[in-house]
Amino acid sequence: MATPQPHAVVVPYPGSGNINPALQLAQLLRRHGVFITFVVTEHNLRRAEAAAEGAARGREGFRVETIPDGLVDADRDEQDYDLGLSKATTHRCAAPLRELVARLRGGGAHGVPPVTCVLPTSLMSFTLEVARELGVPSMVLWGSSAAALMGHMRLRELKERGYLPLKDESCLTNGYLEKTIIDWIPGMPPISLSDVSSFVRTTDPDDFGLWFNITEANNRTKAGALVINTFDALEADVLAALRADTRASTVGQLGTLLRRGHHGDDSIELSLWKHDTECLAWLDAQDPGSVVYANFGSLTVLTADQLAEFAWGLAATGRPFLWVVREDLVRGGGALPPEFLTETAERCRVVTWCPQEQVLRHRAVGCFLTHCGWNSMLESTAAGVPMVCWPVFAEQYTNRKYACELRGVGLRLEEEVRREQVADRVREAMESEEMRKSAARWKAEAEAAACPGGSSHDNLLGLVKALKEGSL
Ligand code: UDP
Repeated sequence: MATPQPHAVVVPYPGSGNINPALQLAQLLRRHGVFITFVVTEHNLRRAEAAAEGAARGREGFRVETIPDGLVDADRDEQDYDLGLSKATTHRCAAPLRELVARLRGGGAHGVPPVTCVLPTSLMSFTLEVARELGVPSMVLWGSSAAALMGHMRLRELKERGYLPLKDESCLTNGYLEKTIIDWIPGMPPISLSDVSSFVRTTDPDDFGLWFNITEANNRTKAGALVINTFDALEADVLAALRADTRASTVGQLGTLLRRGHHGDDSIELSLWKHDTECLAWLDAQDPGSVVYANFGSLTVLTADQLAEFAWGLAATGRPFLWVVREDLVRGGGALPPEFLTETAERCRVVTWCPQEQVLRHRAVGCFLTHCGWNSMLESTAAGVPMVCWPVFAEQYTNRKYACELRGVGLRLEEEVRREQVADRVREAMESEEMRKSAARWKAEAEAAACPGGSSHDNLLGLVKALKEGSL
């Protein structure tokens, strides 16, 4: 009897930082014969359709299903939108997902095979409970670095050892977080408490962000397999420590893996934003390595002052720059100073969203001013582009530490943005021969990981095999 086709229900957390790698992994699995149901929220599907990039079209072996995200529209304007979204998904999405997986469990009409795996990203571990209840195997895609996972796994121990919650508000401003060094996290170098996670910044024992991240990092053990979006050479020490008690596989360089095995036009788009592709033609007209690329990802929110400091800092570099300023980048709205736009008109291009992987791989880009979101850092590493690092949230501080102190591919910006420092650091990153060499070395490692025989390439085949054999 022929083996039934494996069918993975992929459930990304509803933000670009999780949707993008989940969609890439889903497309790779589909190429290897795994049937995919890709679950997006109703809100995000509407956004993707409005972005006119072509919301994930159904293709053979790939279908899209929606569930509500549990938010009402007023919640979307909240200052802490991301935490609000985490609360809503955690508390309100299990029921519709259960109904969906139960409906597809035995297969569906039009050749949909029975579900054989539920595959959420990080921050969606309620789906593992749903999978367990329905008796379906599961596997988690951790969307950030292995170091971030290790740090977040130790948040519970930091609580037990009395570091958290913080004793009082003064700890937030008196240097306590920076001076407190944690030197007992397996596989990690000594790290300041401030660099473990932004969720340590609380005096509330019941803080939702802290509770949620402890739960999410530790729930990974409920899945049959853990897949981390990194590659072995990049995080060898921390991966070795993780593997001491967790079966963790790595598939970083998903974008490279997708491009490598490209067979005709089988790409599937799902962007929540409309891309400005003309910036690529603008980059074509710039000299190699001359452009500063600045982008703070999909969630970062700046104050009007921070926006102005970054603007004048970029202007002061004297370099051409491409800057992604999302419509919702500034809290309460806020536009770039008109004098800034006039003064830099000749050498600046400001867009609301761009095809970042293509931008980073463009020969004109010489440095990346980033908020240290993991996808951004991984994409920059794969493209061999040095970074200027300004983390704002969650595990971005850990990512910065590794880029700046361990890999030699990043420079720190202080938390308080000052235009002079922005300009200095950007110039240094553009001119440093040492950083260029380190970035080139990591680029070569990233490429090797995605080649046949490389860790990401071979681990992907291992995952496909496990899905086909039902051995998760
Ligand atoms: N991204 C993009 N164009 C943009 C900004 C971001 O394509 O103008 C993509 C970027 O390539 C990355 C993701 O959005 O894959 C952002 O994820 P990241 O983890 O860097 O940050 P987050 O948005 O989750 O804070």
